[in-house]
Amino acid sequence: MTRRLARRLRAAFGSRLARRQVRLVLVVALAAGWLLSAMQIVIDYRNDRRAQQETLDQLVATTLSTAATAAWQLDGHLARVMCEGMTAHPAIHGCRLRLPGEILLGDTRVDRPATWLPFGSGLFGGERRLELPLHHQGQSPIGTLVLEISPASAINGFATRMLATLLTGTLRALVLALVLFAVFHALTIRPISRLSRLLDEADDRDFAADRCPPPRYRHDDEILTLERAARSLMQRLASRVEELRSAKQALEETNRHQEQRILERTLELEQTMQAMRQQAYSDSLTGLDNRRAFFEAAPRYLEHWHRYGERFALILVDVDDFKAINDRLGHDLGDRVLRALAELLKRSRRQGDLIARFGGEEFIGLIKVATRQEALEAAERLRGEVTELVVKGLPWTLTVSIGVTLVTSDDTAIDGLVTRADRALYCAKRSGRDRVSDDDRRRELSPEK
Ligand code: GH3
Ligand code: MG
Ligand code: MG
Repeated sequence: MTRRLARRLRAAFGSRLARRQVRLVLVVALAAGWLLSAMQIVIDYRNDRRAQQETLDQLVATTLSTAATAAWQLDGHLARVMCEGMTAHPAIHGCRLRLPGEILLGDTRVDRPATWLPFGSGLFGGERRLELPLHHQGQSPIGTLVLEISPASAINGFATRMLATLLTGTLRALVLALVLFAVFHALTIRPISRLSRLLDEADDRDFAADRCPPPRYRHDDEILTLERAARSLMQRLASRVEELRSAKQALEETNRHQEQRILERTLELEQTMQAMRQQAYSDSLTGLDNRRAFFEAAPRYLEHWHRYGERFALILVDVDDFKAINDRLGHDLGDRVLRALAELLKRSRRQGDLIARFGGEEFIGLIKVATRQEALEAAERLRGEVTELVVKGLPWTLTVSIGVTLVTSDDTAIDGLVTRADRALYCAKRSGRDRVSDDDRRRELSPEK
């Protein structure tokens, strides 16, 4: 219950607009209430004062003849009774009947409470003394009636009423403020707060979701127009967002598709490039590296030789009388011989060796060796294996001549080594073929020759 009330109060006074409205209504209502109270107090004061004066005047008028009689007859008892009667009036606190020669025939004084209203002592004419001469049948004054007047009780009564007026005025103002606020709240603050909440809490991912249902009390005014405009704007936004979302989805789908296609194309391209690289650097007939691959890879051997001392030898292998194979047995068989020889070269190649087809029936190799002797032995071993090669359709033994050269510390380019190996090969051919020749000693190693 208390929680519900607190929630309602929070909802009512929660907005800045509501708080400002409360202040404004309070100020206006209190100002109006106090102004009306002040006017009421002034009117009350005037009425009270007039009534007080009239009462006093009447009292004095009726008492004067009694006082004159008492003075004429020197009747002290009458004078005392009259004075006591006079002081019964709340505004009179002293009554004296004075005869000539300062003789007091009657003298009554009563204590009256002082006024508690600050600065109020001057109201209702303030404290004063009335000296009224007494006459008997038109003769000269026979005495004086002295009245001491104090308006304290009138002031206190007036002040009490003034406070009551102020209090009721303030209460009325507060009630009025509350009523005005309730009206303002129902007519403007609540619809505006709802509108503001509607816009504030709008979900930018889902504008169509209306988290703020329309108010129950609707007035066909500008606020409603504003709310309708806001709701329609949000509906339009929602449909735009939906359109954008589907466009984005379509775009993402297209992108995914494109990315997939790009990936596929890239793969195809890489495969093509790989194939082209393969084509550019390998020999299509034998599958060995070609001349270009050899010249690109060879400088590494030289570099390793100079930097780490990894020695190597270059060998040139040339098929003997290959032209005769072509001419007598056909070009196809010539090809088969070349493939068989290439397979042998691949098989006998050791880790780190480079073997390539140098052109025609000529093969070139860089083989890792420690000494010239080792190089010559390896070449010799190869030559021997070639003689044992069996190629279907070849009626005679296949032989090769091999030129060998060992890398030296003076070698800075591979061409020099190729030239030396070629020279050695030439020597091998000239010496009768089917042999290994060293560029250095120009000797053939074939044991059977
Ligand atoms: P030598 O002992 O002095 O080396 O004589 P050779 O006949 O082996 O050398 P020559 O230079 O006279 O002949 C090489 C032949 O190799 C000529 C060429 O037609 C043939 N040839 C070159 N490339 C191929 C090829 O790819 N396939 C075939 N079948 N023959 C080729
Ligand atoms: Mg040749
Ligand atoms: Mg040849």
